[in-house]
Amino acid sequence: MRVFHSADKIRSYLNSGSRNDRKVGLVPTMGALHDGHLSLIRYAQQENDLTVVSIYVNPTQFNDESDLKHYPRTLEQDLNSLKTLDVDIVFMPNDSEVYISEPKLSFDFGAMGRIMEGEFRPGHFNGVALVISKLFNLLGPNKAYFGLKDLQQFVIIKHLVKDLSFTTEVVGVPTYREESGLAMSSRNQRLSEEGKESASRIYQALQLVRKKLEDEGTVEKAIEQGKNFLDEAEDIRLEYLEVVEAESLEKVDNINLNTKVAVCVAAYVEEIRLIDNIIFDSVGELC
Ligand code: AMP
Repeated sequence: MRVFHSADKIRSYLNSGSRNDRKVGLVPTMGALHDGHLSLIRYAQQENDLTVVSIYVNPTQFNDESDLKHYPRTLEQDLNSLKTLDVDIVFMPNDSEVYISEPKLSFDFGAMGRIMEGEFRPGHFNGVALVISKLFNLLGPNKAYFGLKDLQQFVIIKHLVKDLSFTTEVVGVPTYREESGLAMSSRNQRLSEEGKESASRIYQALQLVRKKLEDEGTVEKAIEQGKNFLDEAEDIRLEYLEVVEAESLEKVDNINLNTKVAVCVAAYVEEIRLIDNIIFDSVGELC
């Protein structure tokens, strides 16, 4: 396993003869790796000749200083997991390798960038789009793998790739969950056992909303029932619960049989911000 810290070195490695027409799959992460990340890596390994995992806690996508400061960092453990998985290349730059100077460019993704995460984490998608553009330009991956747990991020990156004519194919990977239904997340490491149990209510709320939508079809009522269910738990503070069309992220008023729908949620448990979603259509849950 080759570990690169320097942007120049990894760029010249991947642009030199050593790439040799091999297909490169990129898995961008912020480290504190868990089984959700590992499932992305397995997809990348199956579909490419070389797998690159980046580990970089990108400061420009954090709108909350304290969240950035407390974001879990477990580099040694991460490197061991990647070695065990037989990953080819790890890219672990520091801030000065990624941000040579203060970025002047900013991204505006229109309405889809202003709802949900965009509303509650202003500047978040600008930071995500910046770092992903940099990684795509530096590494020139054939494919890049993103979790559908961050559905809005996935949809926005798809648009980024189209709008800037990147040649990288963006692949979405289903959400990996604990047995309790809790979506795996690096931030879960900061929850107590009790907190984890409460947090599993988030997935239950998503299932409840889905069932109500299937039974009755009215979005407003379904959302209300989901909110009430979460309100019953004292240690959960809901930020948003939305039903959107899964590809456009436009809000949905009525469920129609041909629509792929996502129920998306953000909530705090023990002051840790968690997000999750489920995607389904008339045939059943897609992920
Ligand atoms: P992060 O390190 O949190 O930035 O996540 C890196 C990538 O892993 C992103 O594309 C996430 O959507 C994805 N990811 C995070 N958690 C999960 C999960 N539970 N299942 C699948 N993918 C995930």
